[in-house]
Parts: sequence; structure tokens; C-alpha cells
Amino acid sequence: MAPFRVIIVGGGIAGFTAAVALRRTGREIIILEQSSLNKEIGALISLQPNATRIAGLQWELEKNLLEARQMVDEGFRIYNTDGDLVRTIPLNTKDKYGAERLLFHRRDLHESLKQAAISSERAGDPAVVRVSCRVIGCDAVRGTVTLEGGEVVKGDLIIGADGIVLRKHVVEENPSPIPTGHSAYRLMVPTEILEREEPDFCARINPRDPFTSMIVAHNCRLIMGPGRQGEVYGIVALVPDEQMTEDPALKQSWVSEGSIDKLLDTFREFPSWVRNIFRYEFGLGNDAHCSVIFDRHSPDLGLWQLRDMDPLATWHRGRVMLIGDAAHAMLPTQGQGASQAIEDSEALGSFLEDVDESPAFEDLSNILEVSPVKEGQFWHRKGLTTHRISSSPVTHE
Ligand SMILES: Cc1cc2nc3c(=O)[nH]c(=O)nc-3n(C[C@H](O)[C@H](O)[C@H](O)COP(=O)(O)OP(=O)(O)OC[C@H]3O[C@@H](n4cnc5c(N)ncnc54)[C@H](O)[C@@H]3O)c2cc1C
Repeated sequence: MAPFRVIIVGGGIAGFTAAVALRRTGREIIILEQSSLNKEIGALISLQPNATRIAGLQWELEKNLLEARQMVDEGFRIYNTDGDLVRTIPLNTKDKYGAERLLFHRRDLHESLKQAAISSERAGDPAVVRVSCRVIGCDAVRGTVTLEGGEVVKGDLIIGADGIVLRKHVVEENPSPIPTGHSAYRLMVPTEILEREEPDFCARINPRDPFTSMIVAHNCRLIMGPGRQGEVYGIVALVPDEQMTEDPALKQSWVSEGSIDKLLDTFREFPSWVRNIFRYEFGLGNDAHCSVIFDRHSPDLGLWQLRDMDPLATWHRGRVMLIGDAAHAMLPTQGQGASQAIEDSEALGSFLEDVDESPAFEDLSNILEVSPVKEGQFWHRKGLTTHRISSSPVTHE
């Protein structure tokens, strides 16, 4: 009996969770990741209850998530530019949905999911991760991918969890991303630095409190929250493109390196207690004390142009199935990108539950067939899951 062989392209959150959902004794799972996995993006990430419920209860990853230094988000706090708390929205998602909204440092979450995929202590054969393996081609019918360098890797099922590359092998018309008119700066500051250097900020917003804090003013939106049990403070600054003096399109990429000067210029109408929290990343100060501080900061200031995309006509072709951002890239405004990737993985695990050996082409295609039944909604014929695709920006991260 030939084993069921799954090739996952992309070792991101979608790729690792697909491996967690699919691992089983007798299955062979190989994850091909283009990077060396040494440098995950330094940013905070939130998982919503739809995902934490799957990860915690269904996959029994509670211990992994605790080790990833999860923080339970207790609610949203909205401040005005004077620093007055104008509204609190408690989350209480455990009561409502049976699971919490959790905050992580992206690196910690990514690493814990990787461990769950490759650990020999979990049930099922561990997945194998091959790093520095960039996929450059794919044959959806044969079930092969070609790596840079020429190696061809074959599987019964190819999972496209690579964000974008495999999509063109699945859909005939790859929709172009549409700029939304917004861009996002993301940065992270050690909390102890904020507490020591920015008492005006901390007197208004305690960066260790387990809340997501927001300030909305002057066409800009700040979304901030703690990570690593309060050790770091993550800041997302959403700005309209027209107020931005940077042009990410110049680099032909939706992500580019941001400039602190331009960020400060965009926030010029905000009071100093807000603007000052941006300063530390790039060493604006010039005394010896400050340079020590700056050494302890991340040198990255990411700038993302937020782009939307029409729903794909299908996520499946031949032996290839798209999941995560490859299937439905999302705006960060609902904080659902990673959570939907986890839902995809769970659904895939259910669909393939009964596959114990290398499936015939037709059998696999039948299992994976997903058809659009209504605009923006996809339904699987087994009726196990429904994915709703929304392109409308909502209010929070
Ligand atoms: C800074 C940042 C903050 C975010 N914050 C949130 C948040 O708070 N909440 C939330 O829900 N979502 C958030 N997201 C989005 C979320 O991370 C993604 O939607 C989610 O992780 C699903 O991603 P993915 O695994 O499909 O793709 P990715 O995370 O992009 O992973 C794709 C992987 O594929 C690899 N790859 C790409 N091309 C190839 C190739 N040719 N060959 C081999 N490997 C390849 C890449 O190196 C990468 O490791 C954030 C994203 C970023 C960048």
C-alpha cells in the first residue's frame, strides 16, 4: 500500500497548520519552504476565537500556545488624542464562542506551530521541513513541483500555502490586487523602554494591560497591544496612501522598508505623547543613552500597502489545493488572515480524514472539489465547512 504523500509549499502559518491537521501514521508530509526560517517578521499577530478553538480544543495545542507566550485579549479600548478613554468594548469571547482572542509575537506563534508539525511526541508521523527550497513550477495534473535548481518533487496532493506562487497554476485568471488606499506601518517596542522613556504615553495607556488600544484621528488609525506577556508593545499605524510620502509600488512589492521620518510626518497633527512612541525604532536621539536604547530595538519598520483582491473562482485544480493567503488574501482590518488559514487547515484535515493511502486522481479531485454557490461564499459538497470571503474593511485588527 503506497502512503498518502502530501507536499506543502510554504512554511507559514497555513503550511504548518495544514501539516498539524493532516499528520497521521503512514502519511508522508513534506513542507517546502523557500527561506531558511531564521527570520520571521517581528510583529504582533492576533488569533480570533474561530481559530483558537480549533487550535486549542481540536488539535490540542493549548500547551504549545502557552509556550508561545499567548496573551488573552480582554477587549478594545478606544482613546481620543488627549488620551481620554472614550469607549471600552469587552471581548468575553470565551463565553460567547468557547475560546479566547489571543495575542502573540508572530515569531513565537510560527515556531510553536512548526514544532507541532514536526514533533515526534504528537500522534501521527511528523512532517519533514525542507528549508531553502524555492518552488518555481508546478504540474497540477501530475502532482509535481519543481524547485529552483531543477529538482522535481512529487506528491499525491500539493498544498499551495505559499501566499501567491502556486495560485497561477490553479486559477485561469489570477486577479490583480487592488490598492485599498491605505498602508500600514508595523513596529514593536520593548515595553520597559516605553515605561522608562515615555511616561506621558504610559500614564494614559498602560502598555502591559491585556487590551487592544486604538486612537482614530486625522485620517489615521493606531492599533496597539501587548505581546510576550507584556514584554513588547506592538504598534500598527494605518495611514491613507494619499498622506503617505512613500511609494511601495516602486519596489513592485506590497511590503517595503518604512522611513521613520515619513511616519512622523504623516502623524504630524498628533500630540507628542503619541508621536514619541515611534521614535525609538530608528534612533532619532543622539546621546549615548539613546543609542543603547536603540540597540535594543528591532531595526525593522515594515510598511505594507494594503491591497484587496476579488475572490478566486476556485481554490483547487487537479492535485493542487490552495489555502491561506494563496486562496483568500485578506485585509488586516479584521485580523482574520491567520485565523482563516487555520480554518482552511482544519477543513482540509476533515475532507481527507478517510484517505489512508495514495489516492487515485479522480478520488482526490472529488474530495477536494469546492464550488461557488453564492457570491463570496464557497461550499464543500461534504458540507463540513463554509468559507465566506469578505472584501469589506472593518474596524479593528
Ligand atoms: C506583519 C504581519 C502581521 C499580520 N498580522 C495579522 C494578525 O494580527 N492577525 C491575522 O489573522 N493575520 C495577520 N497577518 C496575516 C497572516 O499572517 C496571514 O494571513 C497568515 O499567516 C496566512 O499566511 P500564509 O501561511 O498563507 O502565508 P505566509 O505567512 O505568507 O507564508 C507563506 C510562506 O510560503 C513561503 N513561500 C513563498 N513562496 C514560496 C515558494 N515559491 N517556494 C517555497 N516557499 C515559498 C514564504 O517564505 C512563507 O514562509 C499578518 C501578516 C503580516 C505580514
